[in-house]
Amino acid sequence: MEISTLCVHGCDKKYDNTGAVSVPIFASSTFAHPGVGQSTGFDYSRSQNPTKEHLEHTITALEGGCDTIAFSSGMAAVSALMELFSPGDHIVASDDLYGGTFRLFSHISEKNGIKFSYATSAGEIAAKITSATKAIFIETPSNPMMNVVDIEAAAQLKQNAQNDLNKILLIVDNTFLTPVFQRPLSLGADIVLHSGTKYLGGHNDTLSGMLTVKDSDLAGRLRFIAKTTGGCLSPFDSFLIIRGIKTLAVRMERHNKTALAVAKWFTEQKKVKKVYYIGLQDHPDYAISCRQASGFGGMISFTVDTEQTAKSILENVKVIKYAESLGGTESLITYPLMQTHADLPQDERERRGINACLLRLSVGLEAESDIIEDLRQAMGNS
Ligand SMILES: *Cc1c(COP(=O)(O)O)cnc(C)c1O
Repeated sequence: MEISTLCVHGCDKKYDNTGAVSVPIFASSTFAHPGVGQSTGFDYSRSQNPTKEHLEHTITALEGGCDTIAFSSGMAAVSALMELFSPGDHIVASDDLYGGTFRLFSHISEKNGIKFSYATSAGEIAAKITSATKAIFIETPSNPMMNVVDIEAAAQLKQNAQNDLNKILLIVDNTFLTPVFQRPLSLGADIVLHSGTKYLGGHNDTLSGMLTVKDSDLAGRLRFIAKTTGGCLSPFDSFLIIRGIKTLAVRMERHNKTALAVAKWFTEQKKVKKVYYIGLQDHPDYAISCRQASGFGGMISFTVDTEQTAKSILENVKVIKYAESLGGTESLITYPLMQTHADLPQDERERRGINACLLRLSVGLEAESDIIEDLRQAMGNS
């Protein structure tokens, strides 16, 4: 089945016999048992709830996995994921990461004894793998510098480095491209992570996180962690994400089309010094993107000539909102230096190119002409 059809009909399991086309919100914390030792399949909503299950089945179908677990936020999903590891374990992670993920790794996971090395390309990852390495964690494209990692190459590395005693998990944060454009499990990943807050939900109205896995052993371990640590997604939020996903394929196409136009327009502006969009042919990883993804998404980062121009854009946009987050109907512009990546040490930020002139734009679903006109007036060009 085509991905756009799966977005609409991802899970066809029926939970009642009314013929309801839209899945009901099962607002029940607990479920009555038909007899001693018997279950309807649902016992308590921290373990599972029908609305949440419906969402999980839909994501599983989209990512081509074996199981999905939905969490109350993307960070709840990453936190649960970290419970797979023990003190002394080592993880090689993308150099350029969502700020919250980096904060979790450096302030919480390290305190718990997990060690991290950071790398940009598949080649660099290879050099960082040790006998203690238990996972490779990549975000591709990355936030905010739009680096692309070759997922198949990373999977090959993992294959070469691991042995029977030491399995290495390849974990891919697929938030930016979604399964509509990129399916990491089919490229050799073991776990796909999403902040469902972003494109999956798509309307800037709720938070969620997802972990999709390739095999049932891993699914069992993660389900145990999820029900034990308790960061589960509520029935109502599950409903909102299911509703968002119905239009995911259509939205992604439009985000992609408008973002490409805006990125090209940026390249023609005097005040714009550099454009980071994976769909531009001069992006250093353009060939990898074309090979492993069927679209480029709606995220653009760019640097302007001065800090003054950056601030002027943030303060003068009207159609576009100056706000954190991404992937929704509304275009949002972010100042990574002061928002998403404020907790990164300054030298780390500078090394990655996150400076006072860098802005990140999540291209929404408004008309291309209105987005460009808004940027033009905010930049102070006529
Ligand atoms: C937002 C985001 C997260 C964290 O998700 P929340 O839903 O905000 O907790 C993780 N990874 C990426 C790439 C993100 O953009």
